[in-house]
Amino acid sequence: MKLKIKSSDLKKIEAHAREAYPYECVGLLVGTSAKGVFDVREVVKAKNTLDSPVAFEADPQFVYEVYRGAEKRGLQLIGVYHSHPNLHAYVSARDAAFMKFWGHLVWVIIGMSKDAISEIKAFTMQEGKVCDVELEVIETGPS
Ligand SMILES: [Zn+2]
Repeated sequence: MKLKIKSSDLKKIEAHAREAYPYECVGLLVGTSAKGVFDVREVVKAKNTLDSPVAFEADPQFVYEVYRGAEKRGLQLIGVYHSHPNLHAYVSARDAAFMKFWGHLVWVIIGMSKDAISEIKAFTMQEGKVCDVELEVIETGPS
């Protein structure tokens, strides 16, 4: 399993994580997925309606609109990203519970401290088990 993302999109996710700190940020990934390869075309920031440092929730109406908008352009909702303020990028029990319902999506988790992004990892669920997804960053040059 692989996730392809442009370095500029990754920077957008990192900036969102910093901006939301000390709360968790949440956003959506729009693109294509086929044969175990998720290809990110667009990063869409969402609002964490819980305003929490340990949990996130996105407005379901907003998620639905992004989903519909993607479909209209021949794309799909392929993933979700969120940050872990002062924690590592791992799948928490709460994350795993969500993944059971949304396991076909790729989950990007950002581990961070106040001052820095420490790690970014991607996961998905296959047959009820959490699997690692390799991140392939496509350099888009200086922006
Ligand atoms: Zn989490």
